[in-house]
Amino acid sequence: MSKDNKRGRLRFLQGLGLGMVALPASLKMLMGKNLSSDGPNTKATSPVSGKTYQWKLVTTWPPNFPILGEACTLFSQWVETMSAGRLKIQVFGGGELVPALECFDAVSNGSAEMSHGAAYYWAGKSSASQFFASVPFGMNAQQFNSWLIGGDGLRLWEELYAPFNLVPFPGGNSGVQMGGWFNKEIKSIADFQGLKMRMPGLGGKVLSKIGASPVLISGGELYTSLERGVIDATEWMGPFHDYKMGFHEIAKYYYFPGWHETGTQLEFTVNKDKYESLPIDLQEIVRSACMRVNDWLLYTLEYQNALFLEKIKTETEVSIRNFPDAVLQSLREASAKEIEIIANKDAISKKIYDSYQAFRTRIDPWSKVSERMYYTGINI
Ligand code: CA
Repeated sequence: MSKDNKRGRLRFLQGLGLGMVALPASLKMLMGKNLSSDGPNTKATSPVSGKTYQWKLVTTWPPNFPILGEACTLFSQWVETMSAGRLKIQVFGGGELVPALECFDAVSNGSAEMSHGAAYYWAGKSSASQFFASVPFGMNAQQFNSWLIGGDGLRLWEELYAPFNLVPFPGGNSGVQMGGWFNKEIKSIADFQGLKMRMPGLGGKVLSKIGASPVLISGGELYTSLERGVIDATEWMGPFHDYKMGFHEIAKYYYFPGWHETGTQLEFTVNKDKYESLPIDLQEIVRSACMRVNDWLLYTLEYQNALFLEKIKTETEVSIRNFPDAVLQSLREASAKEIEIIANKDAISKKIYDSYQAFRTRIDPWSKVSERMYYTGINI
């Protein structure tokens, strides 16, 4: 190395050292400008105190629902430990304190302080909420969380929920779901004609556009409905939860991918007034525990799905198949039209959709040379 190069490298290292000393101030500036998704934009907070709080967490899941309900119990334990017992949170399954689909209102009006569920259940409150759970052919868990945490997603989610007196936090992700259980092969889009399939939300609307009959049936009645032919097909989640529902006993084909739920984001909501009245350290504890659930739930589910896919392959007669490309293309086109409809419902939906789409357009080329190449070119 020449003397000049050596000097230049030394200056660079010294510069780094200076930069690091200066980092807190510059980071602070950055946080204000670009990293606003690090935390909710709430009002001034109460100082730390020894006061204790008792909260209620209502969920849209049946009591003790595997992984999703368990995550809420863990959340409560983590918060209690981190706060040395100053914040105790009692968890209620759907229907135990309020009906599952009334969680949003319960937290909004303060009859419960928190909820855990998925934002697409609240499409009736604001159609834009669907962008914070899942849209057909949408972003996957990694991309979506990148939008939330690295991009503007969480800030927009806070903006959407603020008029409802709610603060949202990420609360896990299902990962890519499966396409569903069928008793006939899907060779072309025509095979959906007249097919009675359980599929809620936007996916259901897309199905009706291609000639199928989407049916809304609660989880508890799904098995018998499929067994008795009340419906011809159903989607649920992924191999872990689907196996536990027993669909492999009554359906011949298990299709992938879950085009309608490519990475369904789950949420915590917190009553905004109650959140802001917490001392600042308890606010941080709630936020940190939510983020821990966000990781725990996705990664636990990914592993369990892998184990149960193996189980379905080795222990059952079920044929696991992918939807033909042409079928996916037709579903994609029908989905784009449905998403346009929600995006144009009102100004906030448009704003959120524009951010979602812009982020996606930006991240897709990166995903193609990183994640996609990993799966197609290196390992699988
Ligand atoms: Ca599903």
